[in-house]
Amino acid sequence: MTFTELKIAPPILKALDQAHYKHPTPIQVQAIPPALLGRDLLGCAQTGTGKTAAFAVPTLQRLMQTGRHEKRRIRSLILTPTRELALQIHESLITYGRHSGLRSCVIFGGVSQKQQEIELRQGVDILVATPGRLLDLLGQKLVSLQDIEILTLDEADRMLDMGFIHDVKRIIAQVPVKRQTLFFSATMPEEIVKLSNAMLIDPVHVSISPESPTVEKIQQSVYFVDKINKRHLLSHLLSDQNLDSVLVFTRTKHGADRVARDLTRDHVLAQAIHGNKSQNARQRALSDFKNKSTRVLVATDIAARGIDIDGLNYVINFDLPEVPETYVHRIGRSGRAGNHGTSLSFCDFEEKKLLKDIEKLIAKSIPVVDEHPYPLTVTTIEPKQTPSGRQPRQQRQPRQPRQTAEQTSHLSGSERPVRSAQSHRNERSALPVQPVQSDRRPQPTARPGANRPQERQPYAPARQRPGR
Ligand code: AMP
Repeated sequence: MTFTELKIAPPILKALDQAHYKHPTPIQVQAIPPALLGRDLLGCAQTGTGKTAAFAVPTLQRLMQTGRHEKRRIRSLILTPTRELALQIHESLITYGRHSGLRSCVIFGGVSQKQQEIELRQGVDILVATPGRLLDLLGQKLVSLQDIEILTLDEADRMLDMGFIHDVKRIIAQVPVKRQTLFFSATMPEEIVKLSNAMLIDPVHVSISPESPTVEKIQQSVYFVDKINKRHLLSHLLSDQNLDSVLVFTRTKHGADRVARDLTRDHVLAQAIHGNKSQNARQRALSDFKNKSTRVLVATDIAARGIDIDGLNYVINFDLPEVPETYVHRIGRSGRAGNHGTSLSFCDFEEKKLLKDIEKLIAKSIPVVDEHPYPLTVTTIEPKQTPSGRQPRQQRQPRQPRQTAEQTSHLSGSERPVRSAQSHRNERSALPVQPVQSDRRPQPTARPGANRPQERQPYAPARQRPGR
């Protein structure tokens, strides 16, 4: 399938070609033709599937075809939950629409609204917005939505998670009823089904589940390591210069800062992004990472939501996530749009339960890398509370002698000595790490949909809206 076959107009074709997009992704194949015909869409797809182009390309094309008013007015609104996503969508619109003559603008909170006001006054065809800032500007009568022809709701389920759903409903109430609506959500919880029913008329359903192909494509491995040695293991792995662009995940903001600080001390160029950083600092860190002047970006899950970095090949889980689905989202940051990705996870004794949950979700065991200089020595957990109320420390076992990890490449997982996580889990106490045979446990039979984070709800039939 080619973009020409999807009947994309020449100015957009040219832009896609310049962006080196050779073939449409499956979600684009499904979504673009009905969207070009003006149909409403209900899309189940996540970031990483190419869904931005799936709604941005038909939006640009239809606006080009319907022609402009004398003065530019906002004819398309794209609502998205986070600033990072809003910026990425805006960048995509610039990329795909560079020969369209259309102008887009992005607005989000956490920064001064002055510059956004200036851009809005200059006239805009497509507005990308997060709900809070848009409501502010609507309240100040700096934005009007009365000329909207195409409304896109991106990552609707995340809007719900982040508590924006009421803001979204208030915004939709200001958009003309006669419009095209493109509705995207990765999952379909009850509330989102209700919202989509209220917003869409006879929608075409398009659906892509990236989870299993993503997980299968990514080379995954796990290192059992004591909590206190994780930072040393990280620096050790990063001594391999082939890991040139690495996204490291930590569970907490303080953890992210600490890891970035330790790496900097070890002369590795690293920056942290999380919710306590200003919007500008986050943007700067992200663009430094994208243009490769920072080698390691340390992020919390919230801060990394929706971050899209082309050519990112390595994700390191410094801490395992509490929610197994988060693991799938994290490792899916690498291996985007057909690239191969590698994910390395650190697992201390207390995290073994989390690892088990992850393996259950992805329905496969993650190969264990045994030969590294910091093998696990802590193998017991004492009761949390002592009579004095103090948190006891984990019982430590003596350090094991250094392994011959220096002789081992940490990059090509297929060449590393690996064994199944199950065999490691079965060890009750710290054993001296012996050279091991590769002994992958047989893959459990995958339940249908077992690797899907949330079961999709059945779609309710679309409601007719009068006067459309
Ligand atoms: P998205 O899911 O929209 O965030 O897209 C994920 C990544 O895939 C982005 O880096 C896009 O630039 C890239 N991408 C989207 N569509 C295509 C395509 N047809 N060919 C190559 N790359 C694409």
